[in-house]
Amino acid sequence: MEIRIHAEPPRGPVQLPEPLGFGRVFTPHMFTEHWDEARGWHDAAIGPRQPLVLDASAQVLHAGQAIFEGTKAYRRPDGRVQLFRPEANAARFNRSASRMGMPELPVERFVEAIEALVGVDAGWVPSAEGASLYVRPVMVATEPTFEVRAARSFLHYVILSPSGPYFSGGFQPVGVRVAEEHIRAAPRGTGEAKTPGNYAASLAAIEAARAGGYQQVLWLDAVERRYVEEAGAMNVAFVVEGREIVTPALSGSILHGITRDSVLRLAPDLGLGVREERLDIEAVLADVKRARITEVFCMGTAAVIVPVNRIGHRGEDVAVGGAPDFPVAQRLYRALTGIQTGRAPDPYGWTRVVTVPERAEA
Ligand SMILES: *Cc1c(COP(=O)(O)O)cnc(C)c1O
Repeated sequence: MEIRIHAEPPRGPVQLPEPLGFGRVFTPHMFTEHWDEARGWHDAAIGPRQPLVLDASAQVLHAGQAIFEGTKAYRRPDGRVQLFRPEANAARFNRSASRMGMPELPVERFVEAIEALVGVDAGWVPSAEGASLYVRPVMVATEPTFEVRAARSFLHYVILSPSGPYFSGGFQPVGVRVAEEHIRAAPRGTGEAKTPGNYAASLAAIEAARAGGYQQVLWLDAVERRYVEEAGAMNVAFVVEGREIVTPALSGSILHGITRDSVLRLAPDLGLGVREERLDIEAVLADVKRARITEVFCMGTAAVIVPVNRIGHRGEDVAVGGAPDFPVAQRLYRALTGIQTGRAPDPYGWTRVVTVPERAEA
């Protein structure tokens, strides 16, 4: 792919604001390219980050035809920058595209767009412990029409957000409340697609959980309202007797998390068993109460691993063991972030060092 680049190299070392937080600071450049039926993907460019120009009738705003991804670039101890499993994000982007009636993108093109943009803005990759450059690829339908059908023109863009550690000063566990009133995703619906509509549908439930003193929602399946699916916008896992990780099997309405997949592949190498199965919320809560389940944690790119210290269900608040240090979650967090940041060797071939154009690194 040929990418036109209009980018200013940073003048001197980049000063990142403190604290960075998550998803609030953006780098100065963005990648964009367009798709239409006649030309396919074309006009790939990197230029200044700026507001999108969309017709007010663009289909994304009316039919919600949109997908996105989330991955990260990390500063290695040797100063180089690396990506973590971007091909897995590319594959998932295409599965999301296919479900949402959108054009696919060759895996190499998806990764190349990220690599080129991260290369240009490499100076913005933070080096503080736990900090990284969050990468957000997006595709939206741009065709101006109210007709209800797949659009015939699309925009693919990538923006970058230097982000601080999700938790400053060690793990901060969260409380989750089992969703009683709402569901996140139904079988054969869009739960496996990373599409903004899934988030929109979850926001009222998240606000209700917050108003009740919890940070996140624990979603149950849509049919029987009994089986655990996800926690907020993260996958969820349970530690049984300190030595086995059990996570809901991918049901058709659970997002295929790359963090989840990585944890399942890492855990056996740390001497932990893994199981994927249907998990009944009543059985889970009973196992939490009798301390057979010793830890609960959420998994996702932004926070990596978030321990859960209590589960609210039908007015009852069930405390989860594992506090204060959540030893299994800690081990997994250290092992995974060690590979992601290049502090530990990568026996799985998950990481990819980014080529940085010389002028981009000040
Ligand atoms: C993105 C996402 C996840 C986590 O996926 P990762 O690839 O691990 O970041 C889990 N659930 C939902 C609903 C998501 O959107």
